[in-house]
Amino acid sequence: MNTHFSCVGCGKCCTDHHVPLTLDEARLWAADGGNVIVLVEGFLGNGLGLPQQQREHAERRSAVVPSGNTEAFVAITFAAYNAGRCRNLDEDNLCRIYERRPLVCRIYPMEINPHIPLNPAAKDCPPESWEQGPALIVGGELMDLELAELIRRSRQADRDDVQTKETVCALLGIRTTALKGDGFTAYLPDMGAFAQALESAANQTPVASEWVFHVSGLDIAEQVLDAGARVATEVPANYAFISLRAA
Ligand code: SF4
Ligand code: SF4
Repeated sequence: MNTHFSCVGCGKCCTDHHVPLTLDEARLWAADGGNVIVLVEGFLGNGLGLPQQQREHAERRSAVVPSGNTEAFVAITFAAYNAGRCRNLDEDNLCRIYERRPLVCRIYPMEINPHIPLNPAAKDCPPESWEQGPALIVGGELMDLELAELIRRSRQADRDDVQTKETVCALLGIRTTALKGDGFTAYLPDMGAFAQALESAANQTPVASEWVFHVSGLDIAEQVLDAGARVATEVPANYAFISLRAA
């Protein structure tokens, strides 16, 4: 089935959505006075936490780090912290920084992860936005070549930024990840320290230091320990654990 789409400017995607940022965008967001949230999820070399068919994509956007006596892969996302309306959304639901808005704002509602097909029902766009406009997807193919290029750039930035983001985390004392599929760890660093860490990380040789896993229950903890990785035994005050486990 073909998918048509035209943005109706409702502003919903700019409300209560943390917008993933490239490193350069995160630098700019912090310089503009915005807050950046750091979201971390990881998986293990034996595949724990990762569906096999997603491995290539997930590995390319993850840093390889030590945990216990094994290797872990951590995917670190720097995102604009948008609790409520984005700081750049004006009263008319227009973006105040439209010309330099982040890549992900230009890509929505398309997916960046190639393993997640576009599902209009899961998006914030109202029904009328899917009932009008040019064909977006025909026979499974994305029709808009400019949009395809933005998605390619976003994926590339994800890969290029991996090591610097891991160094920024080390400098900020961010060392606890969640297991992919089980949850995320979420940090809200002080923005002065974040900007400073970004600057230092660019000129710093990465030093491998250990990560630990925060998990949702004893059953998952056992699996992580069996794989040789370390589990957090106390919760440092600097993060929240966002569980993805069904209640
Ligand atoms: S930067 Fe602009 S487009 Fe992006 S979420 Fe904020 S208001 Fe929306
Ligand atoms: S939610 Fe969809 S229709 Fe509404 S502003 Fe965002 S992209 Fe446009």
